[in-house]
Amino acid sequence: MGVPSVFLRTFGCNFKCAGFGMPRGELSEEATKIDLDLYKDYNSLPLVSTGCDSYASWDPRFRHLSPVLDTDAIADAVVDTLPHKEWRDEHLVITGGEPLLGWQKQYPDLLDHPKMRGLKEITFETNGTQKLSEEFKEYLQGWYNMSREITFSVSAKLPCSGEAWSDAICPAVVGEYVDYGTTYLKFVISTEEDLKDAERAVEEFRAGGFTGPVYIMPVGGVERVYTLNNRAVAEMAMRKGWRYSDRLQVLLFKNEWGT
Ligand code: SF4
Repeated sequence: MGVPSVFLRTFGCNFKCAGFGMPRGELSEEATKIDLDLYKDYNSLPLVSTGCDSYASWDPRFRHLSPVLDTDAIADAVVDTLPHKEWRDEHLVITGGEPLLGWQKQYPDLLDHPKMRGLKEITFETNGTQKLSEEFKEYLQGWYNMSREITFSVSAKLPCSGEAWSDAICPAVVGEYVDYGTTYLKFVISTEEDLKDAERAVEEFRAGGFTGPVYIMPVGGVERVYTLNNRAVAEMAMRKGWRYSDRLQVLLFKNEWGT
């Protein structure tokens, strides 16, 4: 938090996470009920208080609102957001949707682009279900050897997301990330039941070779939901000796699109 960062959001996800913010077992229909005819661009889409708060980055109904850019155009757009139009202390966060889907084959082209020279640190914000391809592993190893930093921020999905445990908790996949970058787990929590699920998941991830720290974060893409349980989740983290992750973008920007 607080690190100057550029977020590159890829389109598509293997999950829907319609359970967030809903009573257990129920799925949100908030995003599916949005009337597409009312919205002509991404930034005007409504924020949702239940389900995935990044719905427009994977739901095919909103696909036409995402630009399709080639590598040059992405590199230009990314560097254009930097305050000095060149990399200094900024960090590139590649997020989604799920950024480790088929996009893995495109990253070497982008990260080797002349405009990306000077970039020293990247983070993949992943749900931890996608294996790294052999080609991508080789590429990441090269990055590592050049003392550039790679982080896997693994937001594994607990049952409160609405996704099935067997699909969402993939210890062998995450156990492999550890060999290619700093890896931590991050769980979205609202209740004690979620905390118990997180404990079970951490045990499974540890058995699969995960060695890093664990963060928990309050549910809530909008402020009124988020502020309901942030203190309780912080206290759970203190009790467990885990790390607490705030949602700074909700407090600062009210989770507007682009933040
Ligand atoms: S994994 Fe992330 S982007 Fe995909 S549906 Fe779930 S919360 Fe949304």
